Formats: sequence, structure tokens, C-alpha cells
Amino acid sequence: MPDFDIISVGGGLGGASVAKAMAERGARVLVTEREAKFKDRVRGEWLAPWGVAEARELGIYETLISDCGYHPTGWDTRLAGNSIGLRDLAATTKPAVHPMTFFHPRAQEALLEAAETARAEVRRGVRVSALQPGGPPRVTLEANGRSESLTARLVVGADGRGSMVRKWGGFDSKDDPDQQWLAGILIENTAAPMDYSVGCVQSLRFAYSANVSSGRSPGPLLLRGAQQRTRHDGREGRDALHRGVDQDWDEC
Ligand SMILES: Cc1cc2nc3c(=O)[nH]c(=O)nc-3n(C[C@H](O)[C@H](O)[C@H](O)COP(=O)(O)OP(=O)(O)OC[C@H]3O[C@@H](n4cnc5c(N)ncnc54)[C@H](O)[C@@H]3O)c2cc1C
Repeated sequence: MPDFDIISVGGGLGGASVAKAMAERGARVLVTEREAKFKDRVRGEWLAPWGVAEARELGIYETLISDCGYHPTGWDTRLAGNSIGLRDLAATTKPAVHPMTFFHPRAQEALLEAAETARAEVRRGVRVSALQPGGPPRVTLEANGRSESLTARLVVGADGRGSMVRKWGGFDSKDDPDQQWLAGILIENTAAPMDYSVGCVQSLRFAYSANVSSGRSPGPLLLRGAQQRTRHDGREGRDALHRGVDQDWDEC
């Protein structure tokens, strides 16, 4: 018999959600996550109404809303500084619910904790270094200089955009050419609205703000997109990004 029914490679929002849902349905699940603690990184803070509806169906909505989720009540699109109208997404989308915002690293922790509560085994600081497809598939884990090999009925590749599981499994992928680059920063004490999200299109740039303030996660999040790639590194890069976001915001 395989060691587990399911091994998830990756314990981000995807891997943790699968683990929680399947463990609650009786599967023996192992989640492997290479980060021992999630980094303070902007990557997915606004869950669209259809995502909120799916979160409810999957049984992760309560975890998110009780731990770190926040429901903004509107969406404002601004073109060259002019609002084209504040939209109530609950009233104007099929799922008829407001979107949800959260601080991504906090949501990742909350869902992994929920997966553990549902009796999934969660291993942090563990990197999957190889996958051998077959019956059953076998994964190799690396942690603290030691290697371990485990089998499962199903291996879930929840290891993100640069997925190695996809490569090891022999799956093809096609990428659209890059057209926009986005960088985000979590800021406190700005003039950005707290109760609705704003998307500003200004020349060829795009700026976005959402309040992710709830429970343990402070302040609005500001994202800035551009067609030309600028590398923002270290303190200097952070200051440059901050200035750019302020400029976008003023122009909005
Ligand atoms: C700047 C930015 C803004 C975004 N904004 C939004 C948004 O507002 N709304 C939205 O819906 N989406 C947004 N997204 C997309 C969203 O972030 C992703 O769709 C989502 O994070 C995917 O979750 P995931 O769990 O599949 O992958 P990831 O979040 O990438 O998680 C993969 C996990 O796998 C782990 N891992 C990888 N390889 C291994 C390995 N070999 N062994 C063990 N662990 C491994 C990683 O450490 C990571 O924790 C945004 C993305 C970016 C980059």
C-alpha cells in the first residue's frame, strides 16, 4: 500500500486547500512545503467573487474570513484620474458575493493550520527534489541534509508557476509572452480608500490598491504594473517602488 493517498508538492494556497478538503473527506494526505515560514511577499491578495463562491464550496471560506479575510464593498476603476463608477460586485456578478482580500502569507499559514486540523500531515522546510511517475508515483524529500522516499496514490503538483512536478511528470506547458510586470507593496497610512478597491489605468501604467486590513494584517496593498521591466532590489528598490506608487496614486 502506498505511504499516502495524496502527497502535495507545495503548501501554498493551492496545496493547503487541496489537503484540507481531501483530509476532511478521509484521505491520508501529506503536504510538503519548502518554506519553514512564508515570506512577506505580495502575490494574490484579492479573491474575485467567483473565487469566494468556490472557497465556500470547498470549505475554506470560514478559515479565511475568520482568520484574515476582509470584504471590500466596491470596485472603482479610474481612467486617467476619472472614476468610471463605483461598482458593487455583489450586486453585479453571478456569485452575488463581495470579493475578499487578505494578506497572502497569513492566508497561507491559516490554510496550512486548517489542513493540519483536518489531520493532514504537514511538513515544513522540506523540499521535494524528485518525482518518479508510475504506479505508485514516488517522491524524494530533502530536509536537514537527509533524504526520504515516499509513495502516494496521487501526487499533486501545487508547486507554483515554475512547477518542477509539471516537468517531472512530462506535461507540456505553453506561456503567453510577458506583457506587463507587476510589483506590490504593503503600505500603512496612505490616502488609499479602506473600504473599496481601486484600479487605476494611467498612460501605459496600472496601479491597484486594496485594503487587506483585518485581524493580524495591516494596511492597504498597492500594486504597480508597467510594460517596461524595472528591477526593484533592496532598500533603494523599495524606495523607488514606493515613490512610483505614490506618483501613480496622486495621478489617480
Ligand atoms: C504580484 C502578484 C499578484 C497577484 N495577485 C493576485 C490576486 O490579486 N488575485 C489572485 O487571485 N491571484 C493573484 N496572483 C496569482 C496568485 O498568487 C497565484 O495564483 C497563487 O498564489 C497560486 O497558488 P499556489 O498555491 O498554486 O502556488 P504558490 O503560491 O506559488 O505556492 C507554491 C508553493 O510550493 C512551494 N514549493 C515549490 N516548489 C517546491 C518543492 N520542490 N518542494 C516543496 N515545496 C515547494 C513554494 O514554496 C510555495 O509555497 C498574483 C500573483 C502575483 C505574482
